[in-house]
Amino acid sequence: MLYEQDPSTSLPAVHVVPRGGHTLPSLPYPFCALEPYISRNQLEIHYTKHHAAYVEGLNRAELATVRNWARAQDLAFNGSGHILHSIYWANMSPWGGGQPGGMVAEQINASFGSLDEFRSQFTAAAESARGSGWAILVWQPQWGRLEILTAGRHENLTQWGSIPILVLDVWEHAYYIDYQNRRPDYIRAWWNVVNWADVEYRMRCAMAARVPM
Ligand code: MN
Repeated sequence: MLYEQDPSTSLPAVHVVPRGGHTLPSLPYPFCALEPYISRNQLEIHYTKHHAAYVEGLNRAELATVRNWARAQDLAFNGSGHILHSIYWANMSPWGGGQPGGMVAEQINASFGSLDEFRSQFTAAAESARGSGWAILVWQPQWGRLEILTAGRHENLTQWGSIPILVLDVWEHAYYIDYQNRRPDYIRAWWNVVNWADVEYRMRCAMAARVPM
C-alpha cells in the first residue's frame, strides 16, 4: 500500500511531503511479480530508472529559484509523472485481473453503460493516445461521475479537479522491452494485472471529495 490509513475515517491520513522531499514509493510486490504480463526486467527499469528520474526532477524543480523560467513546467511534468507512476504501481497486482467488485462495477455501469463498454473505451483511449501518454480513468467531483481521459506526456490534456483512480502508462518505456512496438498486446496483457481492490479504494476516497462549482 502506498498510503497510510486513518482508522477513524477509513480515508488515508493527510501525508505532507516537504519541499524537495519526494521519494520513490515502495513497490507493493517484487519486480518479477507481474510476469508473464510485465517482465522483471521491464518493471525494474521502469521503476528504478524512469520513475526515479521524475522524483529527482520534481525535487530539483521544487528547490529551484522561482526565477528559473523552466521551474513551473518541470513541476507540472515531473510532478504529474511521479503521481501517475505511483498510482500505476498500486493499480497492479499479481492477484489482479478478473472483474471489478460491486461498487466499482456500479459506478462503471452508471458512467459507461456496461463493463464491456468501459473496457473497450479505455482500451481504445490507451491505443489512440498519441506518442507518450496515459489512459486515465478519473472521478470528476464537479459532476459526480467517472470519465476516461488521455494524458499527453504526463501533464497535458487533463481536466482540472479530476482524480485519477486507474491509470495505464502507454509511454514506450513502459512496454518496449516486452512488446516492442506492439502496444495493443501490452494493453491486452495489462488487464490481467489490474488490482480492482485498489481501484475501489481510490474510488471511495475520490467520491468523498467535495468541490464547489
Ligand atoms: Mn512510465
